[in-house]
Amino acid sequence: MTSIAISRLHFPVTTLGPGRRLGIWLQGCSIRCPGCISVDTWPEGRGVTTVAQIMDALRGWIAEADGITISGGEPFDQPEGLRDLLRSLREQTPVSVLVYSGHPFERIAAWLQRNPDLVDGLMSEPFEASRSQTRALRGSDNQHLHLLTPLGVSALAVIDRPIDAQERTLDAMFDADGTVWFAGIPMRGDLAKLRAVLAEAGHDVSLTEGSV
Ligand code: SF4
Repeated sequence: MTSIAISRLHFPVTTLGPGRRLGIWLQGCSIRCPGCISVDTWPEGRGVTTVAQIMDALRGWIAEADGITISGGEPFDQPEGLRDLLRSLREQTPVSVLVYSGHPFERIAAWLQRNPDLVDGLMSEPFEASRSQTRALRGSDNQHLHLLTPLGVSALAVIDRPIDAQERTLDAMFDADGTVWFAGIPMRGDLAKLRAVLAEAGHDVSLTEGSV
């Protein structure tokens, strides 16, 4: 039974790819981009479970999802867990899989060769706070979308375009304890403003978005 460390599961996520997507955030990131706003996903050893348990937890959502987005943390820091999770998802749904990684594409290429057809779209490269942010669903313009399968081309090419005002949105998730989470790709400075507003209203704010 393959182990995997998970930060969060959520459905629907509407800000990390087309449609109402299943969002899976893996826990642990070795890349540590300066300026990352998902530092809660950096530590290893939290949220450790198994792929089978994750699939159980997702059972009620899979049939409803238009697509799946996997982020983190750094998904490829758990190569076996990621592989087995994607294999299990492929067995249960035909929808597109978009994976965010902070690694350069060259670092992931061997994994992709060993595991063809598990990832339809890959957003690679680390977040670089000094770079501009003009492309859709990217935290910085050095990040690159690779469409790896025919399904990736048909379902995900739509996000390979300049950012527009309409998608400057975030999904907000409210936990029972008053914690607020956000999914999506914020514009620079937007989350700091939002955090200040919510903190004033008494919420703890954890920032988790696509691996920008
Ligand atoms: S932006 Fe993504 S890859 Fe970079 S440190 Fe944050 S979680 Fe890791």
